[in-house]
Parts: sequence; structure tokens; C-alpha cells
Amino acid sequence: MGNVVSMANVLIIEDDQRIRESLARSLADRGHHVSSAASGMKGVEQTVEESPDVVILDLGLPDIDGQKALKMIRSVSAVPVIIATAQDDEQEIVRVFDSGADDYVIKPFSAEHLDARIRAVLRRSTASPESDVVSVGGLEITQSSRQAVLSGDLLELTRKEFDLLSYLAERTGTVVSKRELLAEVWRQPYGGADKTVDVHLSWLRRKLGESASSPRYLHTVRGVGIKLVDPES
Ligand code: CA
Repeated sequence: MGNVVSMANVLIIEDDQRIRESLARSLADRGHHVSSAASGMKGVEQTVEESPDVVILDLGLPDIDGQKALKMIRSVSAVPVIIATAQDDEQEIVRVFDSGADDYVIKPFSAEHLDARIRAVLRRSTASPESDVVSVGGLEITQSSRQAVLSGDLLELTRKEFDLLSYLAERTGTVVSKRELLAEVWRQPYGGADKTVDVHLSWLRRKLGESASSPRYLHTVRGVGIKLVDPES
């Protein structure tokens, strides 16, 4: 078994030749095996052919929108994707997370910074199987298959809804602040919008068959945050 955390197969999808080559070189110097694609379509193809451990995806691509490329990758692979974006645009970042990105870096970024992000997403994607299933009341969350079941019924959750539910379920009974959720679930430690959390919470509540005014699992603690509890206990 290879040590994927210290050495990964990285696919870089980036049309700018200079950035692509210099990133490929720096990541190879850091011990990664690197391949690259200069267009979105080629990148999606290579994702399927090469099964990389992690994909670095530039959002500004010449052939297809990076957002679209991300959705195409997501439809064929669960590979962790780190978005490289030219601008620190909160709306855009929320959109890429909703489309299934695992993390993002803002250009210009150093190879060292990117390498740290690569290691972090790989640690998350190869997390220990001991904590694979979390059960709270009638809710059962399986990390490896990214499935949540409520009273025997599979919930149809988006990627972020699943991440949010599973983050709260792992901390059952503990109040988690929106700030912490933005930092840990949305990877926006520097002041994302609380509204992002509120919107996803309300979608999640609807799927759990509850509401903020008559909560079962998800309880808002005014001014503090959210906690998930076992409604049957
Ligand atoms: Ca570009």
C-alpha cells in the first residue's frame, strides 16, 4: 500500500503553460507524481483514465467553464478536487463548493501552500475507517459511502449537506458555531457569510422532515450556533 499522504498522483488542469509547467515541476520536486492537462475536456478525460489521487482545477479554462468541468469530474469520480481561482469571490467559492470542490486556492499561490492543501484533502479522504459510521437516533451516517439514512430511508443530500450533517453528527450534543462550520465544512476561515450556513441548514432540515420552529435533530442555540441531538433520548 502506497503512502498517498506523502506522495500523491496529482492531475493539474490548467491552460496557462507557464503556471502548469512550474506547478508540475514544484510538485514533482516535492515527491508527487504529476500529470497535466491544458483544457477542461482533456482534464475530465485524464481524470477517468489516470484515476489521480487529487485534481487541481483552474476555473478559467478556454474550452469549458471550470464550474462545468468540476461537475463533469464529479459525475465520473469522487477524487478530491482543489480549485485554483484567480479571484477571492465569495459567491464563486460557495458555488464551487456546492458543485463538489474539496478546497480552493487563490492565485497567485506558492507550490508549498498548494502542497499543504493537497496533503490536507488527502488526509480527509483517507481518514481512518474506525469512525466510518455515526448513528444518532434513527439517523445513520456512513462516511466511506457518503450516505445518510433516516429511519431506514436513504436521504438525498448534496455534497455540502452531507458534510454539514456528518460534521454535526460527529459532535452530537455539542453546540457548533457557524464560524466553525464555515471554517471546517466550507473551508472559509476568513469570514464567509453566516447566510451560507443558514441556507444549507434549512435545506437539510427539510430533508430531515423538520423545521427550525419544530426541530428534532437540528437545534439552533440562539447567538451560539447549532447542535445535533438524538430526538429519542
Ligand atoms: Ca486559466
